[in-house]
Amino acid sequence: MSSSNTRLLVLYTGGTIGMQQGPSGLLPASGFEERLRTRQALETEALPDWHFRELSPPLDSADMTQANWLEMAAAVRRGVEDGGCDAVLVLHGTDTLAYSAAALSFLLLGLGVPVVLTGAMLPAGAEGSDAWPNLFGAMRAVQRGVPTGVHLYFNGALLHGARVTKLRSDAFDAFDCLPRRRNAAPAVPLPVALDHRAVRRPVPLAVLPLHPGVRAETLDALVDSGIRGLLLECYGSGTGPSGDVRLLDALRRAHARGVVLAAISQCPAGHIDFEVYATGSALRDAGLVSGGGMTREAALGKLFALLGAGLSQAEVEHWFVRDLCGEMAGP
Ligand code: ASP
Repeated sequence: MSSSNTRLLVLYTGGTIGMQQGPSGLLPASGFEERLRTRQALETEALPDWHFRELSPPLDSADMTQANWLEMAAAVRRGVEDGGCDAVLVLHGTDTLAYSAAALSFLLLGLGVPVVLTGAMLPAGAEGSDAWPNLFGAMRAVQRGVPTGVHLYFNGALLHGARVTKLRSDAFDAFDCLPRRRNAAPAVPLPVALDHRAVRRPVPLAVLPLHPGVRAETLDALVDSGIRGLLLECYGSGTGPSGDVRLLDALRRAHARGVVLAAISQCPAGHIDFEVYATGSALRDAGLVSGGGMTREAALGKLFALLGAGLSQAEVEHWFVRDLCGEMAGP
């Protein structure tokens, strides 16, 4: 059954939801539209009208790259601007679903329609699968009305696209937004240079969790590889081994070479507050900027959206510490 209140684009990118068994494990598969239409015919409650688009080839989301994020964002924009859709549902593998949700949150700023991502822990058709409940649940959420911006619908919950994390690899309630302190100043007004029309290109980035024994040479090697942004996952409230003079020098060198040094807390419910400890202040003085209570997924997606749009190091540092879409403000 369908209802014509909402014109929905269903964008299929692959993932377990549509996978088929191959000789060495589950493989992404095409042809999901027909399976969806066949299964939808059994639904008794109203669903929005939709049209289907598949990104080719469908991927295990473990293979997603920045180029795929850009391709998804472009397909969403085309569906809205040329196709007249007023909502988009993205079907995606769960492994990097939170990364794509975060990246799309920043790539689609100001788009003005809701974008909902979902996937499944078990393939559609497998006994007891969460695929159809997630998919039709997401469609019904859209039908009832979802605010603009990017969201993830999973296991009956609608979650903020730039706050969500995959917490479990073997349970239907795999995603959640952990309570991190999010109290950054909002970016108002949002500059046109950062909205969904900005042209973006892939940009080399790296993530480095600080750990006892982390070496200056590792940092130097990352910087020598040509990265433009480095996301450092600090301890606790933003500390690191600042007693290591060589490491601090490596950070200063990296910053002087134009690399954006962004910091988040490696505590699952932590946030950065450099001022609490002298070890944190030393990192800030070496050039790190605070990601507040952002998740790794949000901080990486935001760095990409800012650096990928061609902003300078100083501009990226300016916008990185401000809340663009709820990633650094709210619960
Ligand atoms: N490896 C799969 C993917 O991310 C896992 C899933 O979809 O649940 O595409």
